[in-house]
Amino acid sequence: MVLDRIEYFKEYYKRPNVRERRIKYYRIWRIKNEKRIKDYYKRNYQKIKLNVLKLIGKGKIECNKCGCADTRILEVNHKSGGGHKELTSYKSNSQMYRNIAKGKRNIDDLNILCRVCNSADFVERKFDIKFKIMPIVSS
Ligand SMILES: [Zn+2]
Repeated sequence: MVLDRIEYFKEYYKRPNVRERRIKYYRIWRIKNEKRIKDYYKRNYQKIKLNVLKLIGKGKIECNKCGCADTRILEVNHKSGGGHKELTSYKSNSQMYRNIAKGKRNIDDLNILCRVCNSADFVERKFDIKFKIMPIVSS
């Protein structure tokens, strides 16, 4: 029976010497495949981030202030601040993105800004000043 085999292997992998051997093997595999694992997480993170940007921008992925559309520098901005506080409350930086992608977090207080506009937005809010940001136009 197939079920018997499954049950057998469940028990087999619980044996202390087998468990130890598997842990040791995985530890070595992880060291050997470090780049592969890193690439996987990077790709996965980018996929989630892109989906989140699409969700927040309602299909339009660009900076709300200057219109820049380079996804490498686009960030999720907290309109009324508190982004750092929220990010540090999670175990990892991608947790907020994953929560948004799963629909666990409301996105009404978020918008998309590029890194430059996000920094300017932060300074404006912190010191109560206004910057005039103009897109660079090449002639
Ligand atoms: Zn911008």
